[in-house]
Amino acid sequence: MNFQQPAIINISPHFAVRHKVSLDILRLDLIHPVISGNKWYKLKYYLQHAIDNKATGIATFGGAFSNHILAAACAAQINGLKSFGIIRGEKPKLLSHTLKNAVQYGMELYFISRKEYDNKEMVKERLKDKDLFWIDEGGYGTDGAKGASEILDGAAFDKYSHIVVAAGTGTTFAGLIKKIKPHQQVIGISVMKNNYSLREEINSLLNNNERKKNFRLFHDFHFGGYAKNNDKLINYMNIVYESSDMPLDFVYTAKAFYGLQKLTEEDFIPSGSKILFVHTGGLQGNLSLPKGVLKF
Ligand SMILES: *Cc1c(COP(=O)(O)O)cnc(C)c1O
Repeated sequence: MNFQQPAIINISPHFAVRHKVSLDILRLDLIHPVISGNKWYKLKYYLQHAIDNKATGIATFGGAFSNHILAAACAAQINGLKSFGIIRGEKPKLLSHTLKNAVQYGMELYFISRKEYDNKEMVKERLKDKDLFWIDEGGYGTDGAKGASEILDGAAFDKYSHIVVAAGTGTTFAGLIKKIKPHQQVIGISVMKNNYSLREEINSLLNNNERKKNFRLFHDFHFGGYAKNNDKLINYMNIVYESSDMPLDFVYTAKAFYGLQKLTEEDFIPSGSKILFVHTGGLQGNLSLPKGVLKF
């Protein structure tokens, strides 16, 4: 597959200079044009299982703008597997750009009501005869975390004191926790409002030793909730782009990067720290914003 080795790019925004921290960005958004960022890492072992089990395809769940749905469609096609997307909500008159793209990569879409969506076993039962390998929403699960742990493969990561990442299902965060060394801390920024059960969901992806590692989850930077945004967040994204040449998405990475800035300014991340921000990709989600609000 045509994946690029992710680049590590040093940036020096004002807050980093002022608080004397070094800041590197792991640009997972650049590894593949469609299977963006963390999604490839999370999907790889599921796809391998689907192939090993001789399944005809994969099936998974998501919303109309889901990065995971699009990544799963494209990754399945590359691997010669069919793909089925179970989409939350009634079928809209116009498909979102995300879903249109997923269909272009061969995904068959099933729209189900929010109520049905909550009963995933029933949905699976309905598609039983298709012989599919099921992947949880967002790629959540131990194999997703195992794949995500490979994000930090290699000695190049030993020099960092803090690693910061956005958390949706927390699978990527859990993967990073698995790999960190004793001198390192991983900081996860939850992009949902009051999603306090996330901690338990992350714990269940970790073994006893991993649960004792140095990690912190923050719930203060959701900007109103999952996929919510406001002028402040959009302005922030434009400023980061103009000062650091780094595009962020409004659902995940902008909130995580904002959190990183606040935690640095509040000295939770002390001066002298060597920070790695994991850019998890997802930029296609910005296409759902009105044209022209972003300067990139
Ligand atoms: C899906 C996604 C995440 C969340 O990853 P989890 O492993 O579910 O926590 C973070 N950032 C981006 C850009 C994503 O698309």
